[in-house]
Amino acid sequence: MLVGCYLRVSTIDQAEEGYSIEQQKDKLKQYCSVKDWNVYKFYVDAGFSGSNINRPAMQELIEDVNNNKIGTILVYKLDRLSRSQKDTLYLIEDVFNKHKVSFVSLNENFDTSTAFGKASIGILATFAQLEREQIKERMQMGKMGRAKTGKAMNWWNPAFGYIYNRETYDIDQFKADIVKRIYKDYLSGTSINKIAENLNSEGHLGKDRQWSFRTVRMILANSDYTGNVKYHGKIYAGQHTPIIDQKAFETTQKELKIRQQEAYSKNNNPRPFQSKYILSGLLECKYCSCNLALVQYRPRKDGTHLSVYKCPSTMRKKMFTQRQLSNCISKTQERQMLEEYVIKEISKLQANTDKIELMSSSKVVDVDAYEIELEKIEKSLKKLVNIYVDTDSLTIDIFNEKKEALLSQKNAINKKIQSIKKKQPELSIKDAKKVLRGINGNITRASYDTKYKIVRKLIKKIIVGNEESTIKWAFEL
Ligand SMILES: [Zn+2]
Repeated sequence: MLVGCYLRVSTIDQAEEGYSIEQQKDKLKQYCSVKDWNVYKFYVDAGFSGSNINRPAMQELIEDVNNNKIGTILVYKLDRLSRSQKDTLYLIEDVFNKHKVSFVSLNENFDTSTAFGKASIGILATFAQLEREQIKERMQMGKMGRAKTGKAMNWWNPAFGYIYNRETYDIDQFKADIVKRIYKDYLSGTSINKIAENLNSEGHLGKDRQWSFRTVRMILANSDYTGNVKYHGKIYAGQHTPIIDQKAFETTQKELKIRQQEAYSKNNNPRPFQSKYILSGLLECKYCSCNLALVQYRPRKDGTHLSVYKCPSTMRKKMFTQRQLSNCISKTQERQMLEEYVIKEISKLQANTDKIELMSSSKVVDVDAYEIELEKIEKSLKKLVNIYVDTDSLTIDIFNEKKEALLSQKNAINKKIQSIKKKQPELSIKDAKKVLRGINGNITRASYDTKYKIVRKLIKKIIVGNEESTIKWAFEL
């Protein structure tokens, strides 16, 4: 009689249950020789889970059964065939029995060619399923138990400001202070975007990548900072030290809702933009490198304001100085004239976007590819965690090993991105052109709001001299 031997390992089986493909093969061979059966073929699915039958060797086996090539199927253990009751019954009854192929599982001493074997099919399959569900339940109980005892729930990715240590989180003081600052700034009225901007302007503090709206918002909404842990939406008292007190956190959650609604109604009911001046914060004195300060004069008779930019070193009061008071030779600049000059320069670029290539000395290096790769790795990490939590197919050791591998890849790519970005201007040529082409009509005729935004996208800073000012473009190095 010709026997088809089916073997399967998912990665865990090899590590945990101690039967590798080779071990399974040896046992099946021995059994065949005792029974004097001839092996038609070894069907081997290595690295496939038993939760469905979409496995190459399994499909081949089914095809060979359908073509009447084998008389018996032999497996080492019932769950090698399948881990689901439904699939086990389908294979035995609808595939094997239909072609009068008997099925033998060594471990359970199970043989469908006998009457007892036939009766046992349903029972065994039920146990296989039951076992799996118990393991799953145990895993979930484990997670619930962790939450109830306040152990770290995000040990693979602790909240910014915490370090995972022995089942709980330790505080990373430097980062924790940034978290505190984020909450404080937010509650004192600073917008999320502004908070991110400020952190980035100080060299994306605490992070190896830029702060974004999303990363800041996530911090503002993470209840881990109050010393609690969260599992399935429920909050449990944690073992770690809070960074933010409960009251401030709750106020923040309310504020997040309020501002979200405000933003919503604003977007649906646009109000005229009223904010800072186009060049605020971008002007630097050519002679002493101070940031120029705005000085407003009383309204003129016609109602218009005269406002000027001045180097703080020329002022008597000490309040503006960043460096030592010096007698800077810089002269006062009228705000409106400076604004007109800058807008005119942008309009020149708008008329001839190809000029950007000449101005930007950098080579085009595509960071996008790395960013995409990074996203993929982050997705894999999430997936890995989900697999670990939701199924029983990974041991903690393998989980950790895979996690480490992914994290080190992530690190390597992050470093790569950083080093590319260091050699790249803030704004790529491509993006600069996009900004320019995105302007509706000539910028000189755009609204103050639009000008404000465009200037901030295209310009890093403006060095203001008495006779001449120089624009440092974001697409220049
Ligand atoms: Zn100066």
